[in-house]
Amino acid sequence: MQKKQVVIIGSGPAGYTAAIYAARANLAPLLFAGFLSGPAGGQLMTTTEVENYPGFPSGVTGPELMELFQKQAERFGTEVVMEDVESISLTRHPFLVKSNSLEVEALSVIIATGATAKRLDVPGARDGEFWQKGVTACAVCDGAAPIFRNKDLYVFGGGDTAVEEAIFLTKFGRRVYLVHRRDQLRASKIMAERALSHPKIEMVWNHTLERVGGSEVVEFVELKDVVSGKVTRREAGGVFFAIGHTPNTLFLQGQVAMDQAGYLKTEPNSTYTSVEGLFAAGDVQDHVYRQAVTAAGSGCMAALDVERWLAAKGFLVGEEA
Ligand SMILES: Cc1cc2nc3c(=O)[nH]c(=O)nc-3n(C[C@H](O)[C@H](O)[C@H](O)COP(=O)(O)OP(=O)(O)OC[C@H]3O[C@@H](n4cnc5c(N)ncnc54)[C@H](O)[C@@H]3O)c2cc1C
Repeated sequence: MQKKQVVIIGSGPAGYTAAIYAARANLAPLLFAGFLSGPAGGQLMTTTEVENYPGFPSGVTGPELMELFQKQAERFGTEVVMEDVESISLTRHPFLVKSNSLEVEALSVIIATGATAKRLDVPGARDGEFWQKGVTACAVCDGAAPIFRNKDLYVFGGGDTAVEEAIFLTKFGRRVYLVHRRDQLRASKIMAERALSHPKIEMVWNHTLERVGGSEVVEFVELKDVVSGKVTRREAGGVFFAIGHTPNTLFLQGQVAMDQAGYLKTEPNSTYTSVEGLFAAGDVQDHVYRQAVTAAGSGCMAALDVERWLAAKGFLVGEEA
């Protein structure tokens, strides 16, 4: 069985950044990049242009950016395994990490498995249709793109995130429609009031998305009135899903502290979880910022926390406990 000082689970910006730092600290990390859990490279593999990642003044595509992350991690000796971690045993130490073909004993583990943005599964909004051609799940990431300028934009959701995204989009769209399947928002009172009083936001109560259509990019949505059943077609230049995320933590359930939604809990200003030797970075522990650069930043923190923890425990050769 392989023995590792640190195993990193996840290959998004958080996982690869943790790997770059851990590898440069001579910790010889092993990184499980995922397989069925989602595309290796993480959420950015599902997008086109990334325009807000520092260092790329002309933008970069998500897949190109993640290829660079991987190359940089491998350059310093990270071993990348294109498999999902199927189970991890945290009740013993070293931890036991199992994938389809490997069993690894790890002194420390960084969880960087991200979160999956929920999408409405309706005709026109799927991969190969208008997904990323006017349909997206991240207003902060994509809202400033030229295709959304001065268009009618539709946000779907009813919580704080939906309101935040709608307000953000008022900077770019001609008008922003916040579509909710109920007759009142789930958002906090203060956020709901901001949406209701905003001159560029119009509420569309009791409606659901039926279909997205257009030619090259989104040109219309069809909305269904859940009370009357009537379907209407409206001109639309953008569709933004703001219906939440699912953190990829199922394989950890019952072994480490999570919040109600399944996000890993970390100690303030650190990546320490409730289990000694287990660290968490990126969207899997962050439901607030959810950006590539913040995920990368916390990946760096996790590697530094791991290195210090290993040293403090006397696991690093030549270090005192
Ligand atoms: C459509 C879209 C567009 C976006 N655009 C931008 C943008 O322009 N700018 C920006 O800053 N942010 C953008 N984001 C947000 C950004 O992608 C995320 O904040 C960031 O990718 C989070 O990084 P992460 O490393 O935490 O996790 P992720 O990128 O989610 O990566 C997690 C990885 O872990 C893997 N994994 C999960 N479970 C397992 C397992 N059991 N074993 C092994 N591997 C596993 C997954 O397959 C995945 O590869 C966008 C997001 C979306 C959905």
